[in-house]
Amino acid sequence: MQLSTPVGEIPKIGPAYIKRLNKIGVKTIYDLFFHFPHRYEDFSNLKKISEIKIHETVCIKGKIILIENQVTFRKRFSITKAVIKDETGAMQATWFNQPYLTQSLKQGDTVCFAGKTSIGKEGIYMSNPVYEKTWTGHDLVHTNRIVPMYSETRGLSSKWLRFIIKPLLEEFKNQIPESLPAELVKENNLLNIQKAIWEIHFPSSLKMAEKAKKRFAFEELFLLELFVLNRKQELSQLETIPIPINIETIQRFTKSLPFKLTDAQRKSAWQILKDLERDQPMTRLLQGDVGSGKTAVAALVALNAIKAGNQIAFMAPTEILSRQHFQTIANLLQDFNINIGLLTSKTDKFVSKKLKRQTIEISRTKLIEKTLEGEINILIGTHSLIQDKVKFHKLGLVIVDEQHRFGVKQRAKLCQKKNISSKKILIPHLLSMTATPIPRSLALTVYGDLDLSLIDEMPKGKRRVKTLIVPQKDREKTYQIIKQEIKKGKQIFVICPRIEEKEIEEGKEDKTGWSEVKAVKEEYERLSKKIFPKFKLAMLHGKMPTTEKAQIMKQFKNGKIDILVSTSVIEVGIDIPNATVMLIEGAERFGLSQLHQFRGRIGRTGEQSYCFLFYNSRSKNAIARLKALSKIENGLELAEKDLKIRGPGQFLGTKQWGIPDIAMNALDDFSLVEKTREAAKEILATDPKLKNLPILKQRLGKFSQTIHLE
Ligand code: ADP
Ligand code: MG
Repeated sequence: MQLSTPVGEIPKIGPAYIKRLNKIGVKTIYDLFFHFPHRYEDFSNLKKISEIKIHETVCIKGKIILIENQVTFRKRFSITKAVIKDETGAMQATWFNQPYLTQSLKQGDTVCFAGKTSIGKEGIYMSNPVYEKTWTGHDLVHTNRIVPMYSETRGLSSKWLRFIIKPLLEEFKNQIPESLPAELVKENNLLNIQKAIWEIHFPSSLKMAEKAKKRFAFEELFLLELFVLNRKQELSQLETIPIPINIETIQRFTKSLPFKLTDAQRKSAWQILKDLERDQPMTRLLQGDVGSGKTAVAALVALNAIKAGNQIAFMAPTEILSRQHFQTIANLLQDFNINIGLLTSKTDKFVSKKLKRQTIEISRTKLIEKTLEGEINILIGTHSLIQDKVKFHKLGLVIVDEQHRFGVKQRAKLCQKKNISSKKILIPHLLSMTATPIPRSLALTVYGDLDLSLIDEMPKGKRRVKTLIVPQKDREKTYQIIKQEIKKGKQIFVICPRIEEKEIEEGKEDKTGWSEVKAVKEEYERLSKKIFPKFKLAMLHGKMPTTEKAQIMKQFKNGKIDILVSTSVIEVGIDIPNATVMLIEGAERFGLSQLHQFRGRIGRTGEQSYCFLFYNSRSKNAIARLKALSKIENGLELAEKDLKIRGPGQFLGTKQWGIPDIAMNALDDFSLVEKTREAAKEILATDPKLKNLPILKQRLGKFSQTIHLE
């Protein structure tokens, strides 16, 4: 056997386990060594029975003097009781529903028990301790040491993994080749791979486990950097249609605006225009706080591209936002003879340059036809834009709102065959807009393949939002303030908390979120009947039909509704200039960035506005987060803070991209990220194909298979 031996050839591993291991990507002995524990139990505290205290995690060693199964009187559970004795005393241990234990543990066996002690009628005892038989010369695996705990999914228990991995490690440890370049190991004071692999599985101390983790955090981030830098390199090999800058059009456009672009808008627009001039497709993220004016920048660069004969695909995350963009873009570009289409699930619309400013309904077939013929200059819609039927005649630029990535393949799919030149497919440029700030360490890792433009300045006189954390006793006062605002003609948002999946499971409701809907309905009923009977309320949630949602948003926008009770569906982009108060229930359940997005919905006309945060949690962490929100106004600063407080895993939520745990946890360590990025750049500069580093190349190959950033 050697490192590359498939796990199936290890005598102790049967077919069922081979399948389970393969499922988590473990094919060989080498792979098995890279299946790391996610935490440890410290059972190294070996004590004599007489010294044991209550509620202490300990390990004891002694002889079993009694072991037997008992059935509880209701006959529903079995209890296994054992008494263990050392030279200082005896103690009881119990296990529930493991009657087979009496098969493996016998009276007279010398054993180690490890776990937490409890107190019962008969004194101190251990409930469900980890047990391991011991004999002279036997090195313990599961007790009397720091014990690795692996994530116990897919039928692979920690106990089983320890039992398999330890002897293999002992045998093959010295054959594991160093994957990192030697200089990096030295310069960064890292454990070498052999030591690190041993210590990460069977650490000699928690400190050594940390050191081992640090080495792999470095290694995994380094691989991640190699991966994104490679991706960026690949992107730059692609070809596209260069779009020349048309100064005259741009000047006409800026003059036509009802406002003056901020310096930050102009700078971002210029970066984008410069990118579009090149014959490599742009992949750029335009990030700017809510209300920073990204749409105007998008309209400017779109117009420039249209004047050079290109079409634009403009994608928004929801239908409501698609409609809103359609209106805004049509307004912004009304003097420029442009055809704009809106593709939605119900009625498709069209603004024709001939019938200026007038929206006409059009059949979907017609709209798709006009797009293919190149008559539509900008087609706006949701994800429905990427269906096979929709093809552009000459797509130069794809703009996506609130979605960070839009892959090269997806981009190519939108193009008609004509875009395929003799050699290469021409990939349209991509401008992706987001209000979600990207912390620095993420910008250099998981977003490291994208170029960034930042609008870090708000148009003058914008957004005066006071964020206040409200104790429950002041609820009534808050409602009074709301009533006064409505009397002044203002509008109010009430956001209901997200329900966590776990709670939904316990409440035996489905996971599709009707529990969230229920919360909104209840709050809507309560507010409209008991608190604000004189005002006009409406509710909004994700399960409502799209047309109904659009209808309600329209009414709210037109001032026909005073209070909108909603789930987080209003999170992105919605523009209601007249709203001055936002009340958020269960605020601690939302991420900081998300809360920041919410409050960005109000105070859009420069009037004093209020964001009231109600919370139910007593957790210090939760309250610390809300305090940060009330103090910090800058979105990026908040995001950095959020990342620190919650940690990368929580911060990124479902977006885990297949990144291994250790790298994931290290994603908030900016200095480590910087170091690994520099190292990766240096290596790729001299050896782009990693010819001189075959082991690293192999690791990267495997790593790349699991990562999916799109
Ligand atoms: P976001 O970046 O959140 O998408 P929008 O593009 O929707 O922001 O802009 C928010 C509002 O600010 C819009 O009503 C827009 O007309 C206005 N706006 C954009 N740029 C400026 C500016 N430079 N000066 C004043 N108002 C602006
Ligand atoms: Mg926007």
